[in-house]
Amino acid sequence: MLTDEQLLKYSRQIMLPQIDIAGQEALLNSHLLIIGLGGLGAPVAMYLAAAGVGELTLIDDDKVDLSNLQRQIIHQFESIGKDKVESAKITALSLNPETRINIINYRPGEEEMSTLIEQANVVIDCCDNFSTRFMLNRICHNYRVPLVSGAAIRWEGQLSTYTYEQGTPCYRCLYEEDAFNDQTCTQNGVVAPLVGVIGSMQAMEAIKLISGTGHTVTGRLMLFDGMDMSWREIRFKPRPACPVCS
Ligand SMILES: [Zn+2]
Repeated sequence: MLTDEQLLKYSRQIMLPQIDIAGQEALLNSHLLIIGLGGLGAPVAMYLAAAGVGELTLIDDDKVDLSNLQRQIIHQFESIGKDKVESAKITALSLNPETRINIINYRPGEEEMSTLIEQANVVIDCCDNFSTRFMLNRICHNYRVPLVSGAAIRWEGQLSTYTYEQGTPCYRCLYEEDAFNDQTCTQNGVVAPLVGVIGSMQAMEAIKLISGTGHTVTGRLMLFDGMDMSWREIRFKPRPACPVCS
């Protein structure tokens, strides 16, 4: 049962017939995992807290640095030197004090990550390295927990969602492990609002998954080019030789 305050706080979302009271209650009862509290994790955590997701677990082993502030808008100047998860928690709670927020300021190994993912409704991958991405895909596939994956660098971003339902591909169907070197914003640069574009879409995918409405980008890789302001969509299928899902 929503309180009068909740009905008012979330009224603009409840007003949407696709969300309604039931969707809002689902959000309030949900537990989402956000891996990485940098450029993508910032809008993801802020929108999901504001939208009324009941519980967020934030994972990041990094501390806030002056060079982060250009795009990681969940962190403030005063937070420099603090754990990113601590700084992110303060901002998220300032947006919505009723959100339950757990923080993990180190990189959990595969076993611990499995325990965390098993308890989550959706995992949002906002990390910056392939080894973590592959690990999240393996575990999410194992427990059939939907994974929303985003990446952003320079002027380019990408987005895809994996629900692991019958006939849908996984992250490993798309990428060979060891075929890629990590490309980071530290080495390549990134234009500030790009991470807002992609991160906001990750938050939107998570809200649809939880409220059970609309169509996610499962089986579709969305590629954004900020220089042309264009989106390209690549449809892809499960790979018969995929070592994770086949
Ligand atoms: Zn696969």
